[in-house]
Amino acid sequence: MGDWPYWVFGGLTLLAGVTLAAWSILGDRSRGRLRCPRCWYDMGGVPVESDGRTRCPECGAAIASARRLRRTRRRWGRAIAGVFVAVAGVGVVDYPNLRAGGWHQRLPTTALILLLPPYSPELNPIERLWASLRAHFLSNRAYDDYDHLLDAGAEAWQRLTPQRLRSVCACSYTTHKPKV
Ligand SMILES: [Zn+2]
Repeated sequence: MGDWPYWVFGGLTLLAGVTLAAWSILGDRSRGRLRCPRCWYDMGGVPVESDGRTRCPECGAAIASARRLRRTRRRWGRAIAGVFVAVAGVGVVDYPNLRAGGWHQRLPTTALILLLPPYSPELNPIERLWASLRAHFLSNRAYDDYDHLLDAGAEAWQRLTPQRLRSVCACSYTTHKPKV
C-alpha cells in the first residue's frame, strides 16, 4: 500500500476543516435580515424607539445603529474546531514523511542540539572504546611512572582486535543498514 490513502483521507479532512472554519465565520451573514447582535433574535418588525435605539424583545439589548443589526453571526468556537480539523488533516497528509524521516527532522538543528542529553557517549562511538579500555585494562591500578603508564596504554591498545573494536563501538546508527 502506498501513501495515497493518507493523501486522500488527509486532504478530505483538511478540506472539511477549512470548509467548517469558513462556513462558521462567513456562512451566516445578515442578507437583509435585521437581527439582535447578542441573541440573534429576528428584529425585522421591531420599531426604533424615540432615543434612536432598537430594543431586543428577546434579550433586552438596546442597539444604537442599524449597521449592528446587520452583523454577520460568527461562530468562533466552530471556526477554531475547523482549524483543528484542518491541522489534523495536514498531519495525516504529512504522516508518511514523518514516518520515513522521524519526528526530529521537523525540529531546527539548534533545538535538537539543545534537546540532546548533556552526556551522550553513545553519539560518539569512540567514547565507548575509551570506557572499555579503562574498564578492562587501565583503571584501579597504580602506575610507577610515566613509562609504566605508557606501557599499560600501549598494551591495552594492542590487545584490541578489529572484532573487539566493532563490537564495542557498535551503535545502532553505525550498524543500521538504510533500506534504500
Ligand atoms: Zn437579543
